[in-house]
Amino acid sequence: PASEPIVRVRGLTVARRKTTILHDIDLDIPAGSITAVVGANGAGKTTLVQAIAGVVPPPRGHVQVAGLDPATASPRELTARIGFVFQNPEHQFIAPTVFEDLAHGLRLRHSPADEIDEKVGAMLGRFGLEHKAAVHPFLLSGGEKRRLSVGTALITRPEVLVLDEPTFGQDHARATELLDLVQQLRAEGTTIVLVTHDMRIVAEHASHVVVLTGGRIRAAGRTADVLREGAGLRLPDALR
Ligand code: ATP
Repeated sequence: PASEPIVRVRGLTVARRKTTILHDIDLDIPAGSITAVVGANGAGKTTLVQAIAGVVPPPRGHVQVAGLDPATASPRELTARIGFVFQNPEHQFIAPTVFEDLAHGLRLRHSPADEIDEKVGAMLGRFGLEHKAAVHPFLLSGGEKRRLSVGTALITRPEVLVLDEPTFGQDHARATELLDLVQQLRAEGTTIVLVTHDMRIVAEHASHVVVLTGGRIRAAGRTADVLREGAGLRLPDALR
């Protein structure tokens, strides 16, 4: 059923040095949702989604993504379940060419060479990077870097795609393009989790929303319900 959680978080506590960043979080993210994670600067949004995606060391508590614990799963197992797009796309680039960056997740899965060529080719086409295959990722424009980072996260067709502020630094056209892609992926069955500061994105794109305050969940649920309850969220006048 659509309401079945694909991400389950229980008693998640993350501390760095002497401060606790996330306090004993319980959260279910429904399969097939577009779930927005919102909250003030420093509320713990990035820390939460990184713990879900297993890109940080094992936290206290328990996280399950499509039946797998990201803290202990192998990268190979994880790439089929969850893709993570960093706030800064450069954090994700590990290879000297655009092609190799896209191919990395497939190589981890020991995909055959012809399948890699085919899938990377399709992804280059989807993101308008056909002529950049041999270019170093750091030489791409900001918009191209963002698209490449999304492509590298998507190429293994993960069940959950996590995006940390995907529209940050994008012009209106690029942001719209990215949000269209998010809707398209959802229609294809991918669950989307995205961190954002943009209430317009929450109101127009998110089926569910999680509001973090000081490392705790202030509200979580269907977007319409959470907005009705207030939960400290303020919609731009144009969206009321
Ligand atoms: P923003 O909207 O500014 O991106 P955020 O809600 O994503 O913020 P986090 O990046 O998760 O917040 O950070 C939450 C808090 O934890 C912040 O106060 C941050 O300074 C602190 N923090 C994060 N990582 C570390 C670390 N490695 N060491 C110490 N403090 C950290």
